[in-house]
Amino acid sequence: MRLTGALLICALILAFTSCRPGRNAVGQQEVAVSTAAGGGEEIPDAEQGFTSQPIPDDVWQRMQGLSWKDNDDISREDLRYLRMLHKDAEGRVHNGEMVCNKAIAEDLLEIFKALYEASYPIERMVLPDEYGAEDEVQMRANNTSCFLYRRISGSAKLSRHALGMAVDINPLYNPYVKQRKDGTLFIQPETAAPYCDRSAEFPYKIVEGDLACRLFAAHGFEWGGAWTSLKDYQHFER
Ligand SMILES: [Zn+2]
Repeated sequence: MRLTGALLICALILAFTSCRPGRNAVGQQEVAVSTAAGGGEEIPDAEQGFTSQPIPDDVWQRMQGLSWKDNDDISREDLRYLRMLHKDAEGRVHNGEMVCNKAIAEDLLEIFKALYEASYPIERMVLPDEYGAEDEVQMRANNTSCFLYRRISGSAKLSRHALGMAVDINPLYNPYVKQRKDGTLFIQPETAAPYCDRSAEFPYKIVEGDLACRLFAAHGFEWGGAWTSLKDYQHFER
């Protein structure tokens, strides 16, 4: 009797763990999924997986003193909170999040939906606030993001990210590279030196004319990888 009871408990545990949430069928393949909000959240299908809304109160709280700083350039009402599915290089589906200017919200939904449907790899897409709104830190983590109220690095000029009008994609593998006067390279993130050689093969590399470049160009964005005075391979702005 006691053995039968133990076997029954084992069977119940097995049944429970094999149908836990966090796994989702995509096509015929079962793939692991993750969400910005952590475990327990259902992954929507592609039709419901691309949404835009005014900044919810809980997101607004997360942003305070981090990606959001009091300023005269942009207001909460100018911004939108997007949820967008994306796939990493292993084909795993993630439920990403992004804050952007409302002027480009619909463009970004269209662009990222097309990238998702084409399995264009994007590793991570959470708010910069998850990294203390430190751009260097989120770039090292290869986090794709848009809004971050900040100046251009080494300049007093406001970045297009401060207006939610620029997106950085897979930034670790697509660094910002500028030649200093002494000929050495200024690289952001600092850990991206191996990815400055654009003829090398590695995952998450944005290549001129690839699907991301074509989609952003079709929506009126400039690509930093096409600039001549410096290269910002991760960066698309309007
Ligand atoms: Zn950028």
